[in-house]
Amino acid sequence: MPSTGRNDTMGMEDILEEVRKGDTGYAAIFDLRRTPLMCSNMVRQFCENNACGKYGANWTCPPAVGPIDECISAVKKYSKVLVFRSDYKINEWYDYEKVEETIGRHQENVRRVRELIPKDAGDHLVLSGGGCVRCKECAYIRKEECRHPDTAIPPLEAYGIDIFHFAKKHGVVYGAPEGEMYYFGMILYD
Ligand code: SF4
Repeated sequence: MPSTGRNDTMGMEDILEEVRKGDTGYAAIFDLRRTPLMCSNMVRQFCENNACGKYGANWTCPPAVGPIDECISAVKKYSKVLVFRSDYKINEWYDYEKVEETIGRHQENVRRVRELIPKDAGDHLVLSGGGCVRCKECAYIRKEECRHPDTAIPPLEAYGIDIFHFAKKHGVVYGAPEGEMYYFGMILYD
């Protein structure tokens, strides 16, 4: 993983170039006034189905992340988005240990991207694919405070963002081919 390379004079176009390094397989900036992100309660319902096991068990996931209408409002207030995808090779998709490791690597990539944002940049929201896996067991389970609140990044699914719809609309490959795993991340800003 390369160093963060933050420079406090960086604009989002400069950050985009940095984002393209590391594990990133795709990255682009979109104007949300022209092509808004589709958000819906349906996506949150996937969280509630708890396929990932983090619903009610992680500070970055529902219900701890907050009500869906508040999350969608938080997304909708931004006019631009930098979207990126982390790509990883795996041997077998059912190699759960390896898959879990790639989620952790993706979230490290998202943290790397977040660290590129200048300290005096305006308001922004950074989201990742999947609930935070920074700790082996999230402190939420024991009803303790988050151990790394400054670096825990919420999942875009918890904010109701339909990333599948986004990818289809912009011709971005969403589903990874056999032997690979793809995860998305984004910076929302003005
Ligand atoms: S940093 Fe640890 S305690 Fe905080 S949300 Fe992530 S896994 Fe949970």
